[in-house]
Amino acid sequence: MSIPRIASLQQQSISEPPPPPLYIITPTYRRPEQLAELTRLGYTLKHVVNLYWLVIEDAEEPTPQVTKLLQKINVPFSHLVAQMPAKYRKNKVKPRGVSNRNRGLEWIRANASDGVLYFADDDNTYDVEIFDEMRYTKKVSMWPVGLITKFGVSSPIVKNGTVVGFYDGWIGGRKYPVDMASFSVSVRFLLSRPNASMPYKPGYEEDGFLKSLSPLKLTEIELLASNCTEILVWHTQSKKNPNAMSLDMGKYNNTNLVHLRNILV
Ligand code: UDP
Ligand code: MN
Repeated sequence: MSIPRIASLQQQSISEPPPPPLYIITPTYRRPEQLAELTRLGYTLKHVVNLYWLVIEDAEEPTPQVTKLLQKINVPFSHLVAQMPAKYRKNKVKPRGVSNRNRGLEWIRANASDGVLYFADDDNTYDVEIFDEMRYTKKVSMWPVGLITKFGVSSPIVKNGTVVGFYDGWIGGRKYPVDMASFSVSVRFLLSRPNASMPYKPGYEEDGFLKSLSPLKLTEIELLASNCTEILVWHTQSKKNPNAMSLDMGKYNNTNLVHLRNILV
């Protein structure tokens, strides 16, 4: 007897193998918004099955408050650190999140053999649908990202089901003028490109990484979000908050405020 189409979730998990694993690489760094961003992202990822979250801090040491939050959210995770090299920290325009993402790639090369990887910055907004779509990526999948430049969206331009170009407010001579949140890569494909990595080149991180996966034909790019007609990921940016004022310990010692102050930056 065949299993009815509307099988319960439990029946499905008994009768079907688990879906391919997703490896989500999230670069993050200590700042007033960090715990808020990771709270929002973490509880989004909690809706996704067979997902492994690589949270990689641009820091010397893991931040204890972040470790505590990750344990609480309880999505399977590794909490790693990869500090931006000192020579780039002095720059006015910094290669943000590059050391962290390359550390994530290194972790995947050492620990994963199949599934799909995705670079999910801590401050974006993700519709959980995109995770189940990207899971079946054979080489590289792409889709639109909202709130990028004055165009409002960055997307492959699709005609008759194939990529004919890219719509993005800043092309900058890039072969792949796309956002970090707009593509996923299969782990097997990454492993077949042992030299693939992300360059420390502000504005060209995505382009440099995708080019390092070559050979890859535009016709091989798998188009998600209903042939790039939907926006499932948004490049939200949080307002920058000032650091919290120091606490007057003469006045507030032995109160709850001492605990709260330890959480803040
Ligand atoms: N990031 C980092 N170190 C930094 C600045 C940023 O690890 O010094 C991380 C940040 O948490 C985010 C990603 O890198 O996940 C991209 O940074 P941001 O959101 O500031 O860049 P934008 O979206 O404005 O390009
Ligand atoms: Mn961002």
